Amino acid sequence: MRQNHVPLRTCVACRTKGPQQDFVRVTRQQNATLVAGTSREVGGRGAYLCRRIECFESGLERGTLERSLKGRINQESREVLLEWARAELVGSPIT
Ligand SMILES: [Zn+2]
Repeated sequence: MRQNHVPLRTCVACRTKGPQQDFVRVTRQQNATLVAGTSREVGGRGAYLCRRIECFESGLERGTLERSLKGRINQESREVLLEWARAELVGSPIT
């Protein structure tokens, strides 16, 4: 029972490492829709992104998210994910 052990996660967009709570887990479902922000285990392959809109955008634009999830992300899913990010991640200090 080690209290100070924190499992590290890596953002697929900017490769920043940090504790899991700093990241949003994005999971690709079998019907190709994406589920974001669930801390509980959701079926399907998951990837982690920083709680920053930039990382969501660059992860989608550069294809790193698709690569991590090993599947295509269709336009509708991209828009849904970005909408979620914009609604959920407002207020983060972005300069
Ligand atoms: Zn990032």
